[in-house]
Order: sequence, then structure tokens, then C-alpha cells
Amino acid sequence: MAFELIEKHGEHEQVIFCHNKRAGLKAIIAIHNTALGPALGGTRMWPYKNEEEALVDVLRLSKGMTYKASAAGLNLGGGKAVIIGDPKTQKNEALFRAFGAYVNSLQGAYITAEDVGTTVKDMEYVFMETPYVTGIPAAFGGSGDPSPYTAHGTLMGIKAACKEKLDSDSLQGLHVAVQGLGNVGSHLVDFLVKEGAKVSVADIDMGRIKALCDRHKVDVLDPQEIVVSDCDVLAPCALGAVINDSTVHELKCQIVAGGANNQLAEARHGEILKERGILYAPDYVINAGGLMNVFVELEGYSSDRAFEKTTQVYHNLLQVFNIAREENITTQKAADELAERRIQSIAALRKQLHGRTARPFSTLKEMSSRKS
Ligand code: NAD
Repeated sequence: MAFELIEKHGEHEQVIFCHNKRAGLKAIIAIHNTALGPALGGTRMWPYKNEEEALVDVLRLSKGMTYKASAAGLNLGGGKAVIIGDPKTQKNEALFRAFGAYVNSLQGAYITAEDVGTTVKDMEYVFMETPYVTGIPAAFGGSGDPSPYTAHGTLMGIKAACKEKLDSDSLQGLHVAVQGLGNVGSHLVDFLVKEGAKVSVADIDMGRIKALCDRHKVDVLDPQEIVVSDCDVLAPCALGAVINDSTVHELKCQIVAGGANNQLAEARHGEILKERGILYAPDYVINAGGLMNVFVELEGYSSDRAFEKTTQVYHNLLQVFNIAREENITTQKAADELAERRIQSIAALRKQLHGRTARPFSTLKEMSSRKS
């Protein structure tokens, strides 16, 4: 059954089942594509109902990382890992070190990071066994919290969407509604206010609202209402599936551009947005700032360079909008096309260069030396 599922979910290069009885480790690493560089993606720890559910999740997520890295213009491939277990009760040092040993055995073909259910602390244990881990604390030469960079990339994405839809990327006086004031949303509001936008916010956590209102003068809306509120730009920065059957026909914004993952409940909701003339900035393109930040870590980390890198989101999205316009397809499909085109052209170039690898592989040598 495992092979059928692997075949069904795309052409993955390698799927590794990791098991260590002593440490209680049951994990799967999926390397989807390394045409552009080493496969990078976080390790998710989750109490999956069964192995099939875990396998499907890691296959799907690793493929998503290939597209995200490619559309971001990074020399990275797509990979992901899942650890089967309850992150609240089943974590221990041995588990993450056993997992780290598996990551190490791949010799840099897969680079891990934290994800849902894992923390920077867990990655410190992984780091004891392998240098091929990112998102470690700044004290270890890592890049730390990615959310300010995700938020900055999202700001750049909002500007690109305004350029496309409104013919100006100035946010002065523009009304932006931000749903979710967590790590990404609160930083985004800081940037938006600085740009002179009129900002409305909503969160289900009153503590987050209060913290923000202490810093800025913003309108506070009901969490249910904000999605369909009267605004120029809706910036979803909370949960996924915000654009769904009950909201898509009620939206009053001209642009949907925010940092949340999986904003469209289904691909057909992207079609409806297109029909309604609402410009959608595909989630994995606009929220790539965090990944860019981690990429900079591979080159020897500098916060300034990471912020600079996130400005690339602006250009990436303009390319997506161009493809969508020229081919009369949704922006979501256009993003996939941009990602696929880049992989194909670089893979062809590699072939011509007799497989000579690009620079990130040499930075991996630096990663290995980072440990000592
Ligand atoms: P977070 O948990 O810090 O913040 C989420 C916020 O949304 C919380 O304050 C929560 O109370 C609020 N919220 C939840 N349901 C809500 C609702 N119905 N209405 C209004 N507010 C609601 O998470 P985050 O790190 O800020 O990430 C936000 C989104 O961005 C997620 O979808 C995440 O997957 C995505 N993302 C984050 C990063 C990153 O660097 N942190 C990178 C890429 C994508």
C-alpha cells in the first residue's frame, strides 16, 4: 500500500521510513525533488491515526515545499518529515537524536527545520546528531523566529498585488483588513502602519488585540465579520480555508493577500475569485519570506540580508500575475506554472552542465563545519 500511495502523490525522489525502537521513533522523510538544490522542509510531529495518514501528509507537504522554494527563486528542493506521536506527551531527547541520525545519513540531501508540533528546543537535539538542520537559535548561528521575515515578504506581496490591481504599489490611505494578530499578523500590521495604510484587525484572542492597540490606532472588527468587511485588501493571517463557500461570494475586497497557509478551501474557490475580479496572491508565494530567511541561514546568517531577500516576493508575485493574465488562468495555477517552469529550465541546464551542482551544495560543507 505504501508504494501505491507514493506513486499516487507525485514523483518523489526518495521516501525514508525511520524506526528506532529504543527511542520510540516512527518517522517518515520524503524528498520530493532536488533539481534546484537540497530538499528543505520542517519536521511535523503529530498523533496521526495511522501510518497511511502520516505518509499521505509527508508526501503532500514535501511536494508543496518543492513548489514553494522554486517559486521563491531559491536554490532549494522540496522535502518534509513527519514524526508519528503526540508532541504533548511523547517527546524526549533520544527521539529527536535518533531522528537527527537519520537526517544525517542523507548527507545533506534533506535539511530539516521546526514545524507544527516541534520547537527550536527539539531542533537543538537534532543538531547534536546532524548539521543539516535550520531554524536553530541565533546563538548557534541560526536565524531564529521566521515570522518578521514572513510578514515583510507578505507586505511586499500586498504591494505587488496593489500594483497589479490598482496600478500603484503605494499603500498610503489604502484600507487593509488583517485577520489574525499572531506572530505574522502583528508584524504585518507594524509594517502596514508604517506605510500609511488604514488598518482593521480581528483576532479571537483579546490579549493579542490589546497588545496591538497599545502600539497602534486601528479599527477592531469581529473575527467573523472581518473576512467580508468593506476593505481594499483582505490579509488572512490566521487559519486556512478562509476563502470558502460561505465567504467567497460575500467578499467586498479587491485583493486577497495575506500570510496564512492554504487560504483557499478548494481550488475552485480560486476560480470564483477570478470570475469576481478579486486578485488573489497565492499563499505559498506571498508567505515565502520565512523560507527565504532560513535559506540565508545556509549562506551564513545576516538579518539584513534576510530582510533584503524577502523583497523578492514583490517580483515573484508580479511574474505570477503576468502568467495568470497571459494564459487566462487563476493565480494559483499560475504560481504552480512558474514553479514548474523554473525547475524544468534549471534541470535542463544542470544536464547540460553534466550535473554539476549549484552553489548551495558547497554551502552544505560550511554547514558540516558549523558543528565543530
Ligand atoms: P500564530 O499562531 O502566531 O497566529 C495566529 C493568530 O490567529 C492567533 O493570534 C490566533 O488567535 C488567531 N486566530 C485564530 N483563529 C482566528 C479567527 N477565526 N479569527 C481571527 N483570528 C484568529 O501563527 P503565525 O505564526 O502568525 O502564522 C499565521 C499563519 O501564517 C498560519 O496560517 C501559518 O501557517 C502561516 N505562516 C506562518 C509563517 C511564519 O513565519 N510564522 C510562515 C509561513 C506561513
